[in-house]
Amino acid sequence: MTMIETNLQAVHARIEQACLRAQRPLSDVTLLAVSKTFGPEAVQAAFTCGQLAFGESYVQEAVEKILTLRHLGLQWHCIGPIQSNKTRLVAEHFDWVHTVDRLKTAQRLSSQRPAHLAPLQVCIQVNVDGGATKSGVAPDQALVLAQQVAALPNLRLRGVMSIPELAPDFVAACALFKGVKDVFDALNAEGLGLDTLSMGMSHDLEAAIHAGSTMVRVGTAIFGGRPAPA
Ligand SMILES: *Cc1c(COP(=O)(O)O)cnc(C)c1O
Repeated sequence: MTMIETNLQAVHARIEQACLRAQRPLSDVTLLAVSKTFGPEAVQAAFTCGQLAFGESYVQEAVEKILTLRHLGLQWHCIGPIQSNKTRLVAEHFDWVHTVDRLKTAQRLSSQRPAHLAPLQVCIQVNVDGGATKSGVAPDQALVLAQQVAALPNLRLRGVMSIPELAPDFVAACALFKGVKDVFDALNAEGLGLDTLSMGMSHDLEAAIHAGSTMVRVGTAIFGGRPAPA
């Protein structure tokens, strides 16, 4: 068994335990394998184990992998900050974007989405703690942005994403994630019909699932450690 296969099994076991503990069906939670900084062979190894959805943070690096592996029919999610000069590459190559936090970015993605592709699936990134992850709209701005994004022709608004600050323990992490779930519920109360709550990473997926996550983004626990970003 390869290291990636062993790790994937362990992550699936953690997700299963977390769902049991939260009394949620396992089918509620999708695993997004975050393959940033790892090469196509790592993605291929995870694919061989049945993993189909991959998250990438660095657009240029991602596009090379997407093109190399296009024959596999994988689903690619952009989970990194999006600079204006990268929206075209994102619109042309990704299936999902989790990090829309400005109308301007959403407008560019919609107008640059090629007509022959399905609408780009979008999550609004929300910043619930005003912490070091400076990206994301404030919770009280989320509804306005979500309504604007939902009206764009080539995007499909699917949900809310967040990267809360590192919390000291499970209870504190749950409280932060609950703040994101509250935003998600508030948007749905306005009729937005969202089905995706993207939160939880290698170190805190249990708390995220406890608070209602439907998509955990896991890198290190599957592929191993990454060099610190330059
Ligand atoms: C890198 C990254 C992840 C994965 O983090 P791990 O701690 O390696 O699981 C998840 N979400 C985002 C937005 C990331 O940038």
